[in-house]
Amino acid sequence: MPVASLAKVSVSPAAAGDFTVRAPCIYGKRLVSNRVSFGKLRRRSCIGHCVRSELQTSRVLGSVTDLSLDNSVENGHLPKGDSWAVHKFGGTCVGNSERIKDVADVVVKDDSERKLVVVSAMAKVTDMMYDLIHRAQSRDDSYLSALDAVLEKHRATALDLLDGDELASFLSRLHEDVNNLKAMLRAIYIAGHATESFSDFVVGHGELWSAQMLAAVVRKSGLDCTWMDARDVLVVIPTGSNQVDPDFVESEKRLEKWFSQNSTKIIIATGFIASTPQNIPTTLKRDGSDFSAAIMGALFRSHQLTIWTDVDGVYSADPRKVSEAVILKTLSYQEAWEMSYFGANVLHPRTIIPVMKYDIPIVIRNIFNLSAPGTMICRQIEDEDGYKLDAPVKGFATIDNLALVNVEGTGMAGVPGTASDIFSAVKEVGANVIMISQASSEHSVCFAVPEKEVNAVSEALRSKFSEALQAGRLSQIEVIPNCSILAAVGQKMASTPGVSCTLFSALAKANINVRAISQGCSEYNVTVVIKREDSVKALRAVHSRFFLSRTTLAMGIIGPGLIGATLLDQLRDQAAVLKQEFNIDLRVLGITGSKSMLLSEIGIDLSRWRELVNEKGTEANLDKFTQQVHGNHFIPNTVLVDCTADSAIASHYYDWLRKGIHVITPNKKANSGPLDQYLKLRDLQRKSYTHYFYEATVGAGLPIISTLRGLLETGDKILRIEGIFSGTLSYLFNTFVGDRSFSEVVAEAKDAGFTEPDPRDDLSGTDVARKVIILARESGLKLDLADLPIRSLVPEPLKGCASAEEFMEKLPQYDDDLAKERLEAENSGEVLRYVGVVDAVNQKGTVELRRYKKEHPFAQLAGSDNIIAFTTTRYKDHPLIVRGPGAGAQVTAGGIFSDILRLASYLGAPS
Ligand code: ADP
Ligand code: ASP
Ligand code: MG
Repeated sequence: MPVASLAKVSVSPAAAGDFTVRAPCIYGKRLVSNRVSFGKLRRRSCIGHCVRSELQTSRVLGSVTDLSLDNSVENGHLPKGDSWAVHKFGGTCVGNSERIKDVADVVVKDDSERKLVVVSAMAKVTDMMYDLIHRAQSRDDSYLSALDAVLEKHRATALDLLDGDELASFLSRLHEDVNNLKAMLRAIYIAGHATESFSDFVVGHGELWSAQMLAAVVRKSGLDCTWMDARDVLVVIPTGSNQVDPDFVESEKRLEKWFSQNSTKIIIATGFIASTPQNIPTTLKRDGSDFSAAIMGALFRSHQLTIWTDVDGVYSADPRKVSEAVILKTLSYQEAWEMSYFGANVLHPRTIIPVMKYDIPIVIRNIFNLSAPGTMICRQIEDEDGYKLDAPVKGFATIDNLALVNVEGTGMAGVPGTASDIFSAVKEVGANVIMISQASSEHSVCFAVPEKEVNAVSEALRSKFSEALQAGRLSQIEVIPNCSILAAVGQKMASTPGVSCTLFSALAKANINVRAISQGCSEYNVTVVIKREDSVKALRAVHSRFFLSRTTLAMGIIGPGLIGATLLDQLRDQAAVLKQEFNIDLRVLGITGSKSMLLSEIGIDLSRWRELVNEKGTEANLDKFTQQVHGNHFIPNTVLVDCTADSAIASHYYDWLRKGIHVITPNKKANSGPLDQYLKLRDLQRKSYTHYFYEATVGAGLPIISTLRGLLETGDKILRIEGIFSGTLSYLFNTFVGDRSFSEVVAEAKDAGFTEPDPRDDLSGTDVARKVIILARESGLKLDLADLPIRSLVPEPLKGCASAEEFMEKLPQYDDDLAKERLEAENSGEVLRYVGVVDAVNQKGTVELRRYKKEHPFAQLAGSDNIIAFTTTRYKDHPLIVRGPGAGAQVTAGGIFSDILRLASYLGAPS
């Protein structure tokens, strides 16, 4: 795509000509009208409303002559003004006969009084035409067969669309044109060279043919419709650097003349092509039909310009590169210009200036999706109360294939004219400067130019500054190839602090190095130069930072066993509500078990995660898994959720936290493992801004860790924590009553699935001991598992049983011991409870079978509930008690889920 240079933005005074006088009439008349017809928005009735400048308002009041313009039809003059709607249809809109019919339908159904339609060549035809020239000038006679293909494409389309005289007349014109082209290409072939005007003449034929066919199809519906060869009307002045400037005064004169000979209410005009003042055919350069349409809109003072294309409007980023790009409802003229200048090729950058002058809104719409309202481009948008709507950043765009030129030297500082010398050298080689940045020390000036122009630029600079280089006033003229520009665009960036900071932190998170920065005083854009290879990654990274929910989390779930699977199902059920109501967007990008893993770039469909793991799972690899989930640059925050009980997985937490990955887990291994590793982990956690949550390690979903933290952080002092921390053991002792034996109760619990497959894992007390260690450490005690006396309920001789079955079989032999203990307790009005204790006063912990009075809260427990009592300086006489179900997949997963939400709120989710 040719890129307009910044210097070309303004309309030259001569070209602006008498536009100023006539424009206002539109408003004078339209203030009373509020008609909104198919796909168009009146200048005064856009969403909110478009704010016109004072200058234009005053012109509204002062224009009397203008009103006469609309009445001038009878005099054979062109009736300019709001009665005209201008439409432009891009190449894809007229890509085949069916599509041309659809376009004709849109034209016919538009109820505007008068319509001017600008049309591109059929999709790919302009490329085919350039290819003809290329072949001919390379003396490759295949240009003839290529020309036949062009002929055939249009002949076949016409046969589909037309019949009778219309068909005959089109085909005769087509053959005549092709014969002329053949002669011209032959000349090019012989010369081995095509002049620019030869080339422009050839390539413009696509538009000549598409316009004639469309006009004929519209006529088929019974409407009066004339096609316009825009070369008869549009006059443009070549400016060098592959651009042309419209000559509005001359074009207007020619338009008046054309209209006096073709007075009609529907005109189908060719896009792209025009004439020089000397009547030589030329073009508005690649993608120039948008510009043609804008010039027409201005010439006709139309009430709107609708640009029809193949996407729903202007997206916040190129939808081919950023799948999550969103449609922008509105853009100001400046924003649209900046977006297109910096690479959003949905709109040619030069489209804006002609229509902006008359406040003509542009609406970008999708011919393939008529129900989409499109993007409205107009003056700034305000709501009814005068507030400027809109986000500070509207969109991002990139330009690739650039090179940076860096001119550096101490001799530049304070020397007037250095910049002028640099850029005049650049101008002499006709290169297009896309951005400039100069450090205020004046020590260096750097600028970006298209890669293909950089050699010429650097040679010109070296020759211009050879003396300065020799004398050492300039130290170097350096070329940095393979660069891209990324621009953030938005009118409100100026008044919103912190936008640049957010932009740069998103780039930093994606590990993208910024080579140069530029922000103009208007602050409509912030531009950064990056490596070419980082271009798409950078675009995605910054887009996600501004456009995704602030608390979008990339999640990796490790261990989809019972708890992990329940968590995934809970996420599935709740994700939509979280997104809608709390702006929290949780994306599971990976699920890994010990054997296979499933990864996704945008998020796994949780309604089918089980099938997807089966169908698309690949061999599990934790490093790859982490890299992929964290390496997703769409999403600013990553959390790994470890739902295993594996110490090998826990050993990675330190590394993950160091990389900025948040960790959430019910796995007790890290916090109850070796003390030195635990302390290292917590130390890192405190120093970093990365979070580590583990509420579900104790009491499943019960608020135990958070309660303890709340007490400590508010200055309370923990004296003792005592509790029934095992759901299984809670159940066993709540049921071990009357004349029931302990082994009987264990067997029953095992059968009901309340115990681990081998009940010794519960009865050994290690699990409770780990919880005690976690709480003790949380309270500041430096204890290791080995420091804890544990009362194991596994009789010593049964520790070595080879299987759970053997253990269960032999357990009744030891029933008497516990029965005796129970009886002693009962005799003193007490019950047995298996508890963990953190004795903070004496810096100790224990796991033991204790006796409690029948009135004690621990004796009142039912089922598998947990109960934890915190005795603190504040809660001394009556401990603070947390009680509730402390085991089971649902509540454990619920505990993990609430840690995930806590993380989201730490990261800025609304409360
Ligand atoms: P036409 O032939 O209709 O002029 P173009 O191909 O010139 O269409 O422009 C439309 C294309 O621009 C879209 O298909 C889209 O892929 C691309 N594009 C690039 N950036 C953007 C953006 N920010 N918003 C919308 N489209 C974009
Ligand atoms: N047909 C021309 C091109 O492809 C102009 C346009 O479609 O905008 O460049
Ligand atoms: Mg285009």
